[in-house]
Amino acid sequence: MKVSLPETEKENSYSSRESWPPYTYRDYPDIAPGTYKEFIEFLSTENTSNKVMELQPWISFCDSRCTFCYYPNNPYSSSMMEPYLEALRKELMMYAETKYVKTSEFDEIVLGGGTPTLMTKDQMFGLIKFCEQNFNTTDDYFIKITGSSRSFSKEKLVAAADYGVFQVDMGAQTFDDKLRRMLNLPDSAEHVKDEVKLARKLGLCVCIDIMYNIPGQTLESWTDTVKTAIDLDAEVDAYCLEVYPETILYKQMQAGKAPPQADPELEKKMYVAAYELFTEAGYKPIGHDRYSRVEWHAKENCLNGWPWAGILTTGAGCFMGYIQKFSYSNIEAAKDYIAAVNEGRLPIAKLSKSTDQDMMRKVMTKLYLRLPVDKQEFKERFGKLPEEVYPEQLKRLKDKGLIEIDEKEIKLTKLGDLWKANIAWEFAENK
Ligand code: SF4
Repeated sequence: MKVSLPETEKENSYSSRESWPPYTYRDYPDIAPGTYKEFIEFLSTENTSNKVMELQPWISFCDSRCTFCYYPNNPYSSSMMEPYLEALRKELMMYAETKYVKTSEFDEIVLGGGTPTLMTKDQMFGLIKFCEQNFNTTDDYFIKITGSSRSFSKEKLVAAADYGVFQVDMGAQTFDDKLRRMLNLPDSAEHVKDEVKLARKLGLCVCIDIMYNIPGQTLESWTDTVKTAIDLDAEVDAYCLEVYPETILYKQMQAGKAPPQADPELEKKMYVAAYELFTEAGYKPIGHDRYSRVEWHAKENCLNGWPWAGILTTGAGCFMGYIQKFSYSNIEAAKDYIAAVNEGRLPIAKLSKSTDQDMMRKVMTKLYLRLPVDKQEFKERFGKLPEEVYPEQLKRLKDKGLIEIDEKEIKLTKLGDLWKANIAWEFAENK
């Protein structure tokens, strides 16, 4: 296929593409007594943000280790699941009983992880019911279940459809079996396709993760995966693989047992090829890496409410939690997590409270999420327009053709979409 980088790309490019914006959970400080106290006090206040939140119980077990995985998770053992779920329900109740949560509404219940589909069918729907009974949901809330293609049995998919689950998420990663074996993804591409087809036939929305810049992946292999995802009529999160030093894959690459990743030019071509194929097929780029043909996804509150709304995440190793100015991640080891909950405290490991300066920078990361920055809202919150706070950065990005600024808002251009993580870094404190 023809892969065309935008004409002005050469002179505009940074030396390399960033994959993630600033403010990942790894940078949060370890929990300190003072910040914990402030967080607890904050939770005893009313939610006056007028924003709807997402509830995310997290099942941190996996039954195999993908070689690229850098997420905190725990090896699966069926005997651990019940004690873990008991602790998870206790943690959920600690939040449910706070004034903040009692005065909040949730428009999504997302079973995240890890691999929630390692739960039995009864455990899975018991947990969803528990959330529905103890948290306020909007009239039109959605349920999503994350899982691996090999543990979404037919029985669980049928039960999900019958229950009214809106979406199932599966980490397909690639439809190239050679790459799947290298990444230690146990089932075949054919099996993943069959699972997605079955879920679609049952009327479920299916979102799959796929990755580009896997070591040894060619442009053809990547575009085949993209085309397969389109043929399956799946929603897609198309990530650039970042290989972290603590992963099995990194060690294999260092030892020469896995090939290197693509050079930056090929990586950009992979991004552009996916962008073109998805948009030609009627997908809209939304969020940081999503391509969607489902109208509702563009309206999701957890996306559009950033950074003021909230994701109330719970469970061992969960790391995407944020409620207004507070961001947190939980204790990773399941045993330590259970012990902390049984001591009657929130099992938080890292907790950060943003200053107003941080919040301004977070608002600018809306560009990374492919959302416009509303200039008037920025002024109402912070007393100044973005141009007054970030004159140099905005001028530089505009001159490079990466953003457009008008009376109302600041938004990415098509070229800016390619560099959206780099753009977010322009506003970081220690760029
Ligand atoms: S399924 Fe997800 S969390 Fe589990 S090992 Fe693979 S990438 Fe990591």
